[in-house]
Amino acid sequence: MPEGTAGPPPVILISVDTLRADHLSCYGYARLRTPHIDSLARGGTLFTEISSQAPITLPSHVSLFTSTYPFANSVHENAQVLPPGAVTLATVLAAQGYKTAAIIGGYFLARRYGLAQGFQTYDSPFDSRAINGALDLKRPASQVLESAEHWIEQNSGRPFLLFIHLFDLHQPYDAPAAYRARAPESEYDQELAYVDDSLGSFFDFLARSALDRRALVVLFSDHGESLGDHGENTHGYFIYRSTLHVPLIFHWPQAGKNGNWKLETGNSPQVSSFQFPVSSSDYLARVEAPAGLIDVAPTVLSFLGIPSPPSFCGHSLLELAKSGDSPPRDVYSESSYAHDKFGWATLRSLRRGDYQYIDAPHPELYDLKRDPAELHNLLPGQASLAASYRERLTALAATYRSVPGAVGQTATVVAPGAAENLRALGYLEITSPHAALDDSGVDPKDRVFEYKRYLLAGHLARTGKAEEAAAEFQAILADDPHNLPAYIELARSDVALHRYLDGAKQLQAALALDPRNVEAEELLGDIWLAVGDLGRAAAEFRQLLAFAPQDYEAHFGLGLLAARRHQTSEAAGHFRAALAANPRSAEAHYQLGLILEAQNDKTGAVGEFQAALQIAPKFPEARRELDKLKSPNH
Ligand SMILES: [Zn+2]
Repeated sequence: MPEGTAGPPPVILISVDTLRADHLSCYGYARLRTPHIDSLARGGTLFTEISSQAPITLPSHVSLFTSTYPFANSVHENAQVLPPGAVTLATVLAAQGYKTAAIIGGYFLARRYGLAQGFQTYDSPFDSRAINGALDLKRPASQVLESAEHWIEQNSGRPFLLFIHLFDLHQPYDAPAAYRARAPESEYDQELAYVDDSLGSFFDFLARSALDRRALVVLFSDHGESLGDHGENTHGYFIYRSTLHVPLIFHWPQAGKNGNWKLETGNSPQVSSFQFPVSSSDYLARVEAPAGLIDVAPTVLSFLGIPSPPSFCGHSLLELAKSGDSPPRDVYSESSYAHDKFGWATLRSLRRGDYQYIDAPHPELYDLKRDPAELHNLLPGQASLAASYRERLTALAATYRSVPGAVGQTATVVAPGAAENLRALGYLEITSPHAALDDSGVDPKDRVFEYKRYLLAGHLARTGKAEEAAAEFQAILADDPHNLPAYIELARSDVALHRYLDGAKQLQAALALDPRNVEAEELLGDIWLAVGDLGRAAAEFRQLLAFAPQDYEAHFGLGLLAARRHQTSEAAGHFRAALAANPRSAEAHYQLGLILEAQNDKTGAVGEFQAALQIAPKFPEARRELDKLKSPNH
């Protein structure tokens, strides 16, 4: 569309991460009022039966923006990457001349994970911010929305897509103290009250800018939160309604006269050629038919009169929003969290009509109308109904497994230098070596006790209670000798307790289960280095480079070993490779500086020590070397 011409309505997508639909008063919650989100629902269409396709932040958002299923787009977990070349709602609208921006509130949507594709502005502090505590993984709603308002003020002269991500409801909780009284018994609800108020201010801003009438505003969540249901506290492990059932509200713009879109651009109001499909008042206030987040992007495009790209697997909800009925949909969801982490079974479900079927070694079938809490499994009684659901689920997976433009395999990545801190916070998952849709393995619901014990042990380890943590991990392994992450975590606790050789044994057991486990190899090499068994350390790091040629730990370790043998050019090569993997490693800059100093490259050495000090200003050894090189007597 030509520059400066008024066009179709702006689109504002608001993701309130981790928001259970049933905690909003517009969805019937009685213990807290959410008047501002309710007000959005009053002027729009509220979908009562929407399922997330995966109860994990990145996979859910990827599924929504690409309108593809996790099994097709390969993003099953946080810290995986949507590869370049994906077709997303943002890339489609950018190609249509929309200005596109995302204002990100939580770490798991950082730019490096690939969701930034198609966004000309991707405001995310998480790619440069140091992650030292769990609160560094989020920024408060007030800051995100302030940034959103600022962006709108600068950019509302043209049609735009603005994606706003609010991460406050994700643990750890940190609501302003003023909200404690609003929900004294639930920190989750305190955060929700805070988010609702923050959105209230933002909606006031939209009203002042007339955007409440001009923009299509869509509010949703990526997944819910278990809050203790089914023995789960957070989200990701199970696929019950507590984490799959999410709010979805479309607030339609108001049609101008003649159904044309009026956009006040600066001093010259213009009327665009955009035709509303129907008058906004034709949409229903509530739609109770089940659908999924995968349908959001096709709905937005169809509202704008833009055809969906062939890779989109969802279906527009517009007809449903007008008439309230359409043929029943099959709504698919999955979690491969327990599978990827522990080698247990992948959980997959199909919602159709009132029934929810969960495919697992011990399958489940629920009548959500009568039993929304999913407490009464209808199996084995309703076996033929369950079989028909299973058939539909299999057919859906077969239909959408490969779609045009779907992306290929993905790898787990974290920010250079962030891995250690994320692990320390319990956020970086050790994964087991299993194909993504392999259905073998035990049923996660039969292992929820072990899972909770694992979480507890991890918490003990992170809070400095290594002895207690080690005892818990040992108990887990006594029950389940195939729990690969438990071996690695036990080894970490052993290292913390200076029981290096015990740690090495655990890592050898882990590597027997998965010979290409990067984390186990790294840690094992570090242990041999720590106990002075240099030959074994070198062998372990070389082994690691054979399948992870850019691994930081391996290059750093081999650099240290070469330096000890005074093989300076080999050492320099490894430290440079380590820095290529992690440019923010002050330690690697320092070690490279020492090597360059030994090679009489004074300028190079000064540069490396300065780089080390820029990253870690209190690095006494680097300071000392730099002062030495700069002293006139040197
Ligand atoms: Zn999330």
